[in-house]
Amino acid sequence: MANSRQIGRRVSELRDKLSQKGLDGALITKRENYIYLSGFTGTFANLLVTKDKAILITDFRYVEQARSEASYYEIVQLYDSISETLNDLITSHGIKRLGFEDDYMTWKTYDEFCNKLSSSKLVPLEGTVELLRVIKDDDEIEVIREAVRLADEAFSHVMKYIRPGVKEMEIASEIEYFLKNQGARGPSFDTIVASGERSSLPHGVASSKVIETGDAVTLDFGAVYKEYCSDMTRTVFVGNPKEELKKIYGVVLEAQKVGLDGAVKGLTGKEIDFKARKVIKDAGYGDNFGHSLGHGVGLEIHEEPRFSPKSTTEMKNGMVVTVEPGIYVSGLGGVRIEDMIVINDDKPIVLTASTKDMIIL
Ligand code: ZN
Ligand code: ZN
Repeated sequence: MANSRQIGRRVSELRDKLSQKGLDGALITKRENYIYLSGFTGTFANLLVTKDKAILITDFRYVEQARSEASYYEIVQLYDSISETLNDLITSHGIKRLGFEDDYMTWKTYDEFCNKLSSSKLVPLEGTVELLRVIKDDDEIEVIREAVRLADEAFSHVMKYIRPGVKEMEIASEIEYFLKNQGARGPSFDTIVASGERSSLPHGVASSKVIETGDAVTLDFGAVYKEYCSDMTRTVFVGNPKEELKKIYGVVLEAQKVGLDGAVKGLTGKEIDFKARKVIKDAGYGDNFGHSLGHGVGLEIHEEPRFSPKSTTEMKNGMVVTVEPGIYVSGLGGVRIEDMIVINDDKPIVLTASTKDMIIL
């Protein structure tokens, strides 16, 4: 977890943003955001960050954990409702304009806060903390590397379980069991194992379908390690696949390579998406690639930046992103290949190490 120096730097970056927005303080309740800003990993916390105070409000269950994990913060134990506790704090600290996470707070809480926080106006933070999280520091990248390594290991481990007669769910369980056994907190999302015709479902969560000879099997999964996620996809074949699937594999692999080579600092998300998409379009499968090329990964499995036809975000060193083109043909199957990378000048650092050569089991 982040040390006090890193936390201090993150809090001061947040304070800069708050003063740019004319805010006296921010209320942070989204778990990934409070982990990033405080180091506290429990499931309930409200951070109140003002110009000169950093306060973590939690309940009885977590006070001790908060004291040890979030030593940068003054810990306040929730004594009544959160709105009462907050109201006392914002009144005593003279907070007139309070930023809140508008894309996270429920309408019910917002309504309650509007009624109870008498001296303060709630102002949307509009993703301020998420933006701070976009560029990862070296320590974060080290942790992500380990999450990626665990996924790579799980991939090679599960190869010996994939054969005709085995259910998709059994393969998914084996991956998740292995990840936990090797030190992951768990999978970073519901493991996708999509075989045969189901492999044309871009997000086919493992089902009771049995693997058959000739199936393409798409495995998309990742680990959570020290709160950071990994995400990878490989498609393997059980027995010799149809010619068209082999051809599709070649096109996706080429698109993925072009995407990796094109993920250069200074380009926008849509410029990078376009390069890889063009390979698939030129091969005649443009309509069969209906999702974005990639997404940021960090404390959340899907975060900024995006490699998508709409993204105008400019790539900067230290951004961690996936490159995952796919082609999905209904009735035949699909292929997707996904690696995680770190943007690094003209050539990204590719974190995922598993082979991308066609595997026929
Ligand atoms: Zn994935
Ligand atoms: Zn992904």
